[in-house]
Amino acid sequence: MGIAIIAGTRPEILKLAPVYRSLNTAALEPFWIATGQHGDLAEQALEAVGISPDITLTGGWDARSLTELSAGLLSQLGQWVEVKRPQAVLVQGDTASAYSGALAAHLHKVPVGHVEAGLRSGDTNNPFPEESFRRLIAPIADFHFAPTRLAEKNLRLDGVRRTRIWITGNTIIDTVLQMADQVRAPDVLAQLKPEERLILLTAHRRENWGNGISDICRAARSLVERHPDIRIIFPAHSNPRVRETVEAELGRVDRIHVVAPLAYPEFIAVLKVSHLVLSDSGGVQEEAPSFDVPVLVLRETTERQEAIDAGVAKLVGTDPDVIVREASRLLTRAAAHRKMASRQNPFGDGTASARITDILTRELGKPNSFRQAS
Ligand code: UDP
Repeated sequence: MGIAIIAGTRPEILKLAPVYRSLNTAALEPFWIATGQHGDLAEQALEAVGISPDITLTGGWDARSLTELSAGLLSQLGQWVEVKRPQAVLVQGDTASAYSGALAAHLHKVPVGHVEAGLRSGDTNNPFPEESFRRLIAPIADFHFAPTRLAEKNLRLDGVRRTRIWITGNTIIDTVLQMADQVRAPDVLAQLKPEERLILLTAHRRENWGNGISDICRAARSLVERHPDIRIIFPAHSNPRVRETVEAELGRVDRIHVVAPLAYPEFIAVLKVSHLVLSDSGGVQEEAPSFDVPVLVLRETTERQEAIDAGVAKLVGTDPDVIVREASRLLTRAAAHRKMASRQNPFGDGTASARITDILTRELGKPNSFRQAS
């Protein structure tokens, strides 16, 4: 019994940690299954949020292959669902771990809760494979925890019944607020001079591997050349396809620091003092508005349209000329920067996990409302 929480990647861990804590407080007996999809990044994130998994999958698959990874996850998660027979399984977002976990639970007739349900870019190639994974989870989930009204609307358009959708806000805001007093400045931040402005840069999406990352690096070089009062910190993803390109292109450029992935309290410390963020990350688009930091999104499409609509983020893609033009605009025009920085975060108020816990307490307590596990 209890509620199984399945998480394998850094963002899933950061976004499910407050749900785990909230379910625990409500005595819903959560237990954490770590899939191992992200190796070191997952370890770092688990340590940051203070969670020791109850179960860690043994792995053994070739994680570079999406089919090997998905098949391996499905098989091992299926075995654990069968052994533990949880009251419900919670998955988050749009990863192979989330999809395989949802399918494993569904095939064992265990109710599935999808945290951060309903995000849609409208393009299955962008982001790939995330857009497909989240779409595939929708028809087999029983509880759809939509972060925003727009996400709810997307689910309705996919045919999900209104009564199975709850708008909760995004749990990353719970994490940001809960961790706000635990921030820890990384060593690299000491390099920032008082007269300098900081740009935080992250890029790791599969669609950007290769040319996209090279173009982003070219834009970063051009920005430090044009603006002598900026410094860039780039915590490069541990994925070798990203890391090698970034090290080669930016490793020795003055006022650009390519660093290893930062522990969450360090990343938030950097984000808090940044003037601007350039990123293709989903989670960073949600976190930055909590610190009044504008985001230029290094992608062609976003499933976080709320950030664009709220005016806290702008899509710029990976064309170096566009990135340099848009970033320079925010660096040179205080009013344009102020306009993006002074908006409310559209992704929630830090109460998403408590809402999810209330809903599960109520819904799972209803007699015969769900299939019995086989
Ligand atoms: N993050 C972190 N350290 C870093 C870079 C990012 O802790 O060096 C956090 C960031 O705050 C956000 C999450 O990782 O919450 C985003 O993960 P990622 O960009 O890998 O995935 P996405 O959100 O795009 O799915």
